[in-house]
Amino acid sequence: LTDKLSSAFKHLKSKGKLSESDIDGTIREIRRALLDADVALSVVRSFTARIRERALGTEVSQSLNPVQQVVKIVNEELTDVLGAGVDRPLNFAKNPPTIIMLAGLQGAGKTTLAGKLGYWLKDSGHTPLLVAADLQRPNAVTQLQVVGERAGVPVYAPEKGVQSDGGEDVTVPGMTTGDPVKVARDAVELAKQKLYDTVIIDTAGRLGVDEELMKQARDIRDAVQPNEILFVIDAMIGQDAVQTAKAFDEGVDFTGVVLSKLDGDARGGAALSVASVTGKPILFTSTGEGLKDFEVFHPDRMASRILDMGDIMTLIEQAQKQFDEEEARKAAEKLSEGSFGLDDFLDQLQQVRKLGPMKNLLGMIPGMAAHRKELEQFDEREVDRTEAIIRSMTPAERRDPSIIDGSRRRRIAFGSGVTVSQVNALLQRFEQAAKMMKRVSNNNGGGLPGFGGP
Ligand code: GDP
Ligand code: MG
Repeated sequence: LTDKLSSAFKHLKSKGKLSESDIDGTIREIRRALLDADVALSVVRSFTARIRERALGTEVSQSLNPVQQVVKIVNEELTDVLGAGVDRPLNFAKNPPTIIMLAGLQGAGKTTLAGKLGYWLKDSGHTPLLVAADLQRPNAVTQLQVVGERAGVPVYAPEKGVQSDGGEDVTVPGMTTGDPVKVARDAVELAKQKLYDTVIIDTAGRLGVDEELMKQARDIRDAVQPNEILFVIDAMIGQDAVQTAKAFDEGVDFTGVVLSKLDGDARGGAALSVASVTGKPILFTSTGEGLKDFEVFHPDRMASRILDMGDIMTLIEQAQKQFDEEEARKAAEKLSEGSFGLDDFLDQLQQVRKLGPMKNLLGMIPGMAAHRKELEQFDEREVDRTEAIIRSMTPAERRDPSIIDGSRRRRIAFGSGVTVSQVNALLQRFEQAAKMMKRVSNNNGGGLPGFGGP
């Protein structure tokens, strides 16, 4: 059986570079996963081009198979684009108050976020003040007041001054209405007097990008010089993310991003689109309508979510630690000699099972998430049964399953507590697998599928 296979392994052992065919198949899967996650097409193109370039220059690893190696590169690159791999904290002012301005389209989730941010800050010992600088929509001020009340955070609003959280009401003499810039400026003054240490300014949004809106946001920005300008974007926006993010980046030059509505179907592709087009960090995610549906953003977790691979890095780390290279090499040799028997199969099965329950492993394979239901039904006992059956065979039977006749089958079934037809099924599957492996190795010398080659 085939010199091709052994030469393929020799090639891997010689530590050359990853080959184009190793890389392109994996990249095709990655591209599909990114498009499924609604990453903008232009971003997918530039991203995969970068991955390909990097992968082509990569030395073949001793402990990872080429697919795992490419996936590892994808994950590193993705985490990098999403925030240089580190969580970016809020930038607090040296001299309070810290001023945080929210910007984004109408319905993006700014007002909801103001409440969450206020609640979160208050919970960690800050004294926030919410500011109603959206004077565009009739109910915007009231909406913020309701949110503030729920969060127990005071709201500064035109005409009504400050509504305190159950304590004293504060009003500002001479305050005017109708001008969001003045509202923002007055609120900051009040925060200084009353020692609120953070000021969160809610601003107006439009349904689409609009120069008048952008100018208003810019005017507020210039009047109060915020420490943070957070661009809030609906994760469900999909392909429009690029254009909207660009417009706000040019319009108000925001300092950070908040991704909202991540509780829905959105896989978070907008995160990659926005981060790669603007280069700005993502600080938080919003995951529901409740006050506590709010999380600090972690680039590594979002990378997994976008690719829908479960915790692929964990899998790879486990594989690096636990795969016995020597064993894998021996198996490959046997396969190439045509002497891969059930005992070898049992060894391989145990190697794989060291990594964790099969169900979890399968769930980490790219594209498998679509089969969640089937995975749920995957019966771990099936694997136990397989092991038990092989254990009930003699060494000679394991080496050469063709000698297993009817009476041996009955003995094995009895010994492992299964039916004869279950033994038959296993032998049949093994025979098919052996045939398939022979074919695969004849065709492309591709190594043991799923067995992490040397
Ligand atoms: P704004 O126009 O940017 O101020 O957006 P709003 O804060 O008024 O939010 C618009 C709608 O989206 C409201 O119905 C919110 O309840 C809802 N919303 C905001 N954030 C989230 C979120 O993270 N998840 C979900 N499911 N709904 C949200
Ligand atoms: Mg609003």
